[in-house]
Amino acid sequence: ADEPFNLSAPQPADEDAPLWRVAVPTPLRKLYDYLPPVALTAEQCARVTPGVRVKVSFGRQQLIGVVVDCDAQSDFQRSKLKPVLELLDNDSVFSADIERLCHWISRYYQYGLGEVMSNALPVLLRKGRSVSAQVKRWRLTTNGKGLPEGALRGAKKQALLLALLQRGEQSPETLKEQGISAAISRAMVDKGLIEQVLIDEALAVPSAPLPATLRQSALTLNAQQQRALDEVPDTGFAPTLLQGVTGSGKTEVYLQLIHRQLEAGRQALVLVPEIGLTPQTQQRFIDRFDCPVAMLHSAMSDTARLEVWRRARVGQLGIVIGTRSALFTPLPQLGIIIVDEEHDGSFKQLEGVRYNARDAAVVRAKDCAIPIVLGSATPSLESLHNAQQGRYRHLELLERAGGAEPPAVQLVDVRQQNMHEGMSGELLEAMREELQRGRQVLLFLNRRGYSPSLMCHQCGWCADCHNCDAKLTVHLKPRQLHCHHCDSRYAIPAACPNCHSGNLLGEGIGTERSQRALEQLFPAVPVLRVDRDTVSRRGELDELLAEVHSGEPCILVGTQMLAKGHHFPDVTLVAIVDADAGFFSSDFRGSERISQLLVQVAGRAGRAEHRGRVLVQTHHPEHLLMRQLLEQGYHAVAQSLLAERQVLGLPPCGYLVMVRADARHEQLAEQMLARLRDALQGLAGSEVTWVGPMPALMVRRQGRFRAQIMLRSGSRGLLAQLAGAVVGWLEADAEARKMRWSIDVDPQDT
Ligand code: ADP
Ligand code: ZN
Ligand code: ZN
Repeated sequence: ADEPFNLSAPQPADEDAPLWRVAVPTPLRKLYDYLPPVALTAEQCARVTPGVRVKVSFGRQQLIGVVVDCDAQSDFQRSKLKPVLELLDNDSVFSADIERLCHWISRYYQYGLGEVMSNALPVLLRKGRSVSAQVKRWRLTTNGKGLPEGALRGAKKQALLLALLQRGEQSPETLKEQGISAAISRAMVDKGLIEQVLIDEALAVPSAPLPATLRQSALTLNAQQQRALDEVPDTGFAPTLLQGVTGSGKTEVYLQLIHRQLEAGRQALVLVPEIGLTPQTQQRFIDRFDCPVAMLHSAMSDTARLEVWRRARVGQLGIVIGTRSALFTPLPQLGIIIVDEEHDGSFKQLEGVRYNARDAAVVRAKDCAIPIVLGSATPSLESLHNAQQGRYRHLELLERAGGAEPPAVQLVDVRQQNMHEGMSGELLEAMREELQRGRQVLLFLNRRGYSPSLMCHQCGWCADCHNCDAKLTVHLKPRQLHCHHCDSRYAIPAACPNCHSGNLLGEGIGTERSQRALEQLFPAVPVLRVDRDTVSRRGELDELLAEVHSGEPCILVGTQMLAKGHHFPDVTLVAIVDADAGFFSSDFRGSERISQLLVQVAGRAGRAEHRGRVLVQTHHPEHLLMRQLLEQGYHAVAQSLLAERQVLGLPPCGYLVMVRADARHEQLAEQMLARLRDALQGLAGSEVTWVGPMPALMVRRQGRFRAQIMLRSGSRGLLAQLAGAVVGWLEADAEARKMRWSIDVDPQDT
């Protein structure tokens, strides 16, 4: 008798059968070989293409990886390899350009392809969710298709249903709209004439050409805007830096550039900073174009994000606007990429895969041979340098659109002045004036909470975090001490733990304290606070700002959240309460950042009808950069900073790689990094400078001791090679494997 065929036993391994090489999302930078799934026939295996997701067992876990080669030969013995547990896709989840982008990111930033590919997918796909959504459709059965002409004429609704389905498959919603009840459908099902099936959503909606008609007519451009529009070509790689002050009409240029792409049947990707993405932004695009516009940002649910990804992938969206990770949105006919506020730090991912979405966007544009526009009032030195080297076209919008005058900026020397909660008499007087005129005032203070520290007036004790080398911030609502570095919270002590005195004082001024003071000084006007404590949910900010946009007099006090994305046309006075903090930062980018921030904040004020003014409080009115910023503007400061970077060999005139490590015990990380340096220093010779190892600026954070070492070179290629060797050494070193370490190519924080 025939032996029953045992389906569950592994097939005898065919020694020549190809293996699958899988990019598994683990920190290790290597690929892993697996046998094809047991359940697939050789013929089915042959149809599998790279880019499909698979579930594999990895150590004790099951992970979702991506097949990068399904015709691999392994160095390992076959008998040691495990089979793939499950094949999750029929086709690649990546479009060819995104796949190439992942390879580039993996190589350039030194992260494993598995981690990079996982990072490039919507969260639900990383977890194994199906790429296509299943939707319900009604259709005719074979019997139903065979019905003669004029059948069912007696039953009017049934005849209507038949007629509809003879035209094609229909959704339950369509049938409902046509007045066909569930009972009617059921009757037809019972007769064996119709059936309900689940089909791929992507196939259910034909990807019709996008309508590119304008819903709202475009503005007539001024000469500079027109020139920008003309200079950016429709196709071909063309990186352009569009430098224009706030309100100079950059967004209008984007809109018109996008219009040209939509007309040609192509799509646009717009990248914006983390907190600059507001419903206001999206609305401007929706109001203009008669095509689907979708947003992608971190506050959306995973389901909603996947939905956008799916629609984008099948060409149903004309414009996708999103924060950093929107870079990986598949768009089959991508025609242009816009990076707005390109100087913004949030384009750099600071953990996991440490990539810069702005820079990777340029790589994607080059790969797709399309134009990319980097826009900013205060371009990064990197982009300015690229423009000056002739790599980017540099276009400027020097005037405010609609004829508004730039604000008048004035330094306030606060040395020896009587200060009231951080505000000089001059500032208070100016505020009073503006409010009396029925105008609005904006105060910028980049510290949230009540006070940045709590001190004992008797003995000098200061409240520190138990886990970090950091002072605790005093918050009054809710009443607590809060560590802004590790998020620990503590009760405010009633007496000093050191000398038992009750004389504890908040040192310094945060936004919460400033708001309280202002409420007492100006009881007649609302004082609105905008920082991460008052605005935690997206939408909350917009509710708050609705009050500002009513135009009634008010005072806005807040952190850098105020500097991004929002226009405040009725604000006529902007005050920088403490300009000194940023100019004396230890990071070499400190001056660049504070200059950008000041210009961005100042740019929020005023419009055509009433000119704005900006007051900058400082203890260092003689500070060179600050003077230059006020007298000659951002561009001059940027040139000075570039010259300085040139001398020091710092970015963008040199390249950096940062290696960070931390451990539970002091010195461990530093010692390990010293061994790394000793092992590899010989490799690159004198063209690479090793800086460190040294303790991180804040040595202890979240209970771990942190150290870093920086590699600097004028040669990007050399540094890239060395970065590869560094990672190889760290992965192999027994001590390093016990610690946490990371590599950061083109670091933002040093
Ligand atoms: P930016 O993006 O540079 O901050 P916007 O494009 O938002 O500038 O323009 C600022 C304001 O000026 C907006 O209210 C916009 O409608 C208006 N504006 C832009 N371009 C023009 C133009 N050519 N003519 C008239 N108004 C314009
Ligand atoms: Zn004390
Ligand atoms: Zn802490």
